[in-house]
Amino acid sequence: MPDLPIQLSGLSALPSEKVGLAVLGYPIAHSISPSLHNSALRKLSEKDERFVHWRYDKIEVQASELPEALPKLARMGYRGINLTIPHKVEVLPLLDWIDDEANLMGAVNTLAWDGTGWKGYNTDGYGLETAVSDELKASLPASSVLVLGAGGAARAAVARCLLSGCECVWVANRSSARLEELNEALCREFEQDRIRPFVLSEIPQEIMEFQNLLIINATSLGLAQTDPSPISLSGLPSSTKVYDMIYNPPETALLKEAGLAGLARENGLSMLVHQAAKALEIWTSEQVCADSMFACAKEVMQKS
Ligand code: NDP
Repeated sequence: MPDLPIQLSGLSALPSEKVGLAVLGYPIAHSISPSLHNSALRKLSEKDERFVHWRYDKIEVQASELPEALPKLARMGYRGINLTIPHKVEVLPLLDWIDDEANLMGAVNTLAWDGTGWKGYNTDGYGLETAVSDELKASLPASSVLVLGAGGAARAAVARCLLSGCECVWVANRSSARLEELNEALCREFEQDRIRPFVLSEIPQEIMEFQNLLIINATSLGLAQTDPSPISLSGLPSSTKVYDMIYNPPETALLKEAGLAGLARENGLSMLVHQAAKALEIWTSEQVCADSMFACAKEVMQKS
């Protein structure tokens, strides 16, 4: 059972030698980020004693509390923050500076304190690209990419694909309203014909014939054990690869179907690890060993 989160109201100042890092969200009790980061910090401290004084917490912060939480955390000695539901978009007006990729994605998952204000980054795209490369041996620009979903995670995935050089990206969503929002936002930055939106129930036949198709599930369909797969994989070429951003449960209906069809497949734990490693690199300016974080993540998931 993961440790209980710290409540914002109960937060106290860290001793002066300590450096605080934390993930903020609501709900947050389920987060395994503290285990990943604290294991990586232990590894870093073997080479550099400074990191003995660094620690990573999880703090329960509701949507309405974020404007008060950020200056408070800075005063208490926190220097790096990860954001999860419901803060990734709402944080934007509270920041002093936002990097280009996060701006394109319209969402921030990593904050770094620069002495006077919070700077915002988004490491989800890096996490995704590294995960599909390491685990599925798939290069984004060399694949025909189909992203399922049009929420924050999907938008980060589509933006990363386009930035990495995919000629175009296919995007399928259940509701046309959210799909239109994603399309409008990204068409301000990228040529219109590079984004090919369609509703999930109307998958164009040509996609089913692509070689090197990479399907990325960025919907939340699969989070419940009984959820069905967002699409049918029947009839797809054997070169198709399937990446599901969901990691709990570790095998969604989509991944089960991919396994039965003999397709290469992977769940989202690797993305979680690589986005975390990148965030820790931003905060520490050190190279972080994602392998040891990954081993820790697998251990934590097995126990949960
Ligand atoms: P959002 O709530 O912003 O988006 C949810 C998406 O799922 C929408 O496109 C929504 O479609 C779709 N959806 C929800 N229910 C259904 C359904 N029954 N059938 C079809 N589509 C559905 O969530 P996020 O974008 O933040 O996250 C999406 C997923 O990605 C989550 O499962 C999250 O856990 C995972 N994630 C994993 C990360 C990792 O590191 N591995 C990082 C970030 C996210 P509609 O618009 O029609 O409602």
